Amino acid sequence: MPELPEVEAWRRALNDPVSAFPIVKAGPAHVATLKTFDPPLSVLEGRRLAGAERRAKRLLFPTDDGELVLLVHLMTAGRLRFLRAGEQGPKVPAFRLAFQGGSQLVLTEAGAKKRAGVWLLTPEEAEVELSHLGPEALGLGVERLAEICADESRRLHSLLRDQRVIAGIGRAWANEILHHAQLSPYALSRELDPDDVRRLAEAIDSELSRGLELRERGANDKKTYRVHDKLGQPCYVCGTPIARVDFEEHTIYYCPECQTGGRVLKDRRLSRLLR
Ligand SMILES: [Zn+2]
Repeated sequence: MPELPEVEAWRRALNDPVSAFPIVKAGPAHVATLKTFDPPLSVLEGRRLAGAERRAKRLLFPTDDGELVLLVHLMTAGRLRFLRAGEQGPKVPAFRLAFQGGSQLVLTEAGAKKRAGVWLLTPEEAEVELSHLGPEALGLGVERLAEICADESRRLHSLLRDQRVIAGIGRAWANEILHHAQLSPYALSRELDPDDVRRLAEAIDSELSRGLELRERGANDKKTYRVHDKLGQPCYVCGTPIARVDFEEHTIYYCPECQTGGRVLKDRRLSRLLR
């Protein structure tokens, strides 16, 4: 599940190679992957990309003439790869850009469900497409976070994942951040004291920065996460086995000693609540 650290690491890696040569062939694209049809992808041919940008969990590739933006959202299973000239790629990628000289940018998606998306937009349309997003999580700061927490009463795990409120965090980094801040995933945002908010703001920055540094070095999930997906493994702070609870449609991982005062959280799956 690519979140801010993963997508930002890819952005940094892609920025130079995608802008090195003009595009010679845009597409083909899987019918479910390409979300726009006007203008057609072929208008990219002959143009050069200015580089790679990121907003929340999306990648943006503006053309260097400032007329178009290719927007990519990888969702859960989408992956982008840059293939050098001669390097073997997938036979049928969900989307492909071929550059002069033979390099390629390819999007693949595991599984039958195609959820990743590619949009070809004008800069104005791209702005509209991204307008619902809240401020970037990295560098948010304690004052802005205090305002967000006071704005409405939300459970922290849910608040951190809400892209309209804070952009870039998903379930994995919400687990890592809340553990680092020593806060319960079920704690209500309005009930945090100033010290809690300060710890949470610090944890957002330090955990996302840690993730970005690891991902830039190519670290896998197992090496990157310390709490997420670590059921039963000792907490890296206190040694208590990491616990798991279902909340809404997500599975939360947490340390009962560090985060919930020894309490085990109750299952709050939507399916259970609706029964
Ligand atoms: Zn612990």
